Amino acid sequence: MTQLNDTLARPLRDLRISVLDRCNLRCTYCMPEESLHARGVFLRPHYLLSDGEIELLVRVFARLGVHKVRLTGGEPLLRPGFVELVGRIASVEGVTDLALTTNAVLLPRHAAALKEAGLGRITVSLDSLDEQVFRKMAGNRGSVQEVFDGIRAAEEAGFAKLKINTVVQRDINDHTLMDLVSYFRNTGHTVRLIEFMDVGNVNHWDRKLVVPSADLLKMIHDRWPLMPVAKQPLGETARRYAFSDGAGEIGFISSITEPFCGDCSRARVTAEGLFYSCLFSAKGTVLRDKIREGMGEDELVEVIRGLWSKRADRYSELRNHLPQRQPHVEMYRMGG
Ligand code: SAM
Ligand code: SF4
Ligand code: SF4
Repeated sequence: MTQLNDTLARPLRDLRISVLDRCNLRCTYCMPEESLHARGVFLRPHYLLSDGEIELLVRVFARLGVHKVRLTGGEPLLRPGFVELVGRIASVEGVTDLALTTNAVLLPRHAAALKEAGLGRITVSLDSLDEQVFRKMAGNRGSVQEVFDGIRAAEEAGFAKLKINTVVQRDINDHTLMDLVSYFRNTGHTVRLIEFMDVGNVNHWDRKLVVPSADLLKMIHDRWPLMPVAKQPLGETARRYAFSDGAGEIGFISSITEPFCGDCSRARVTAEGLFYSCLFSAKGTVLRDKIREGMGEDELVEVIRGLWSKRADRYSELRNHLPQRQPHVEMYRMGG
């Protein structure tokens, strides 16, 4: 199979599927409670891709060179029958790396079954170990203890190396980061500090709330010297550093200050079956209705091939030159 490249010579390698737009938390930077009062804001079940439709799309993308699939949301663990869906995706030929992004609250219930079903890796989102800060950022839902219980369950199920995603906001959780970093040193897990991004339209993004990764890197390096990890896999979103004392690694995802569009190989499909070629796209391509109208696997392969070969997205690199904030799809629909 020849590699499928976009107009900037970036191959299609990576697929992120949002399996549900609902969530049990209300993180202020993603789906702030006050923005979700309108009825009908969430998709009704019929509008969601079914397990079979998701599996079909994974087969389509795998035929085009995708080996890495990440399941996200909303909160994926809220989707009924999620473990069975994982099993179906894990058995698709060509999928060698199947990962999940979760807030971990429901992991105690599902971690062992997910391992059994073939899930390879888990990323857990956790913004602070300080209960008050955590609750403030999670919209007064969940607790640090619940996330810890989820992490423990994942470890016990055999997920030895977790990624811990931490969104950083100035004067909101940045004063608690050193505790968080310290806690996860020597655990085998890797904290990734994420710059607050201008995804969606409802999260009150403000550049003043963004703490540049370079500042965090310096702060952490001053306490625990860091060395850049020499070999970074292509398409890796995080810049990785190793603690010089052997305590593990840390990553920085710096979409605002150090965009990484140059090797972005990620396609995205929302829970309602819209294809997006960039996290910041305003408009997607409807795949669900094509499937429901009877379009088969071969034709879908050609549709995606056509879309990817025309892809020219590099929003993060252009952000600073755009006149004003552009409309985007919400993060809880698109998935991270
Ligand atoms: N609910 C799951 C979770 O939180 O892990 C999966 C979906 S969530 C949308 C995926 C990731 O996006 C999370 O790690 C979250 O912290 C991150 N995220 C959401 N909104 C963000 C924003 N405005 N800026 C940066 N990261 C964001
Ligand atoms: Fe839910 Fe994840 Fe968004 Fe937080 S970041 S509101 S946990 S989907
Ligand atoms: Fe990829 Fe779009 Fe993010 Fe650039 S802005 S790295 S093209 S998702």
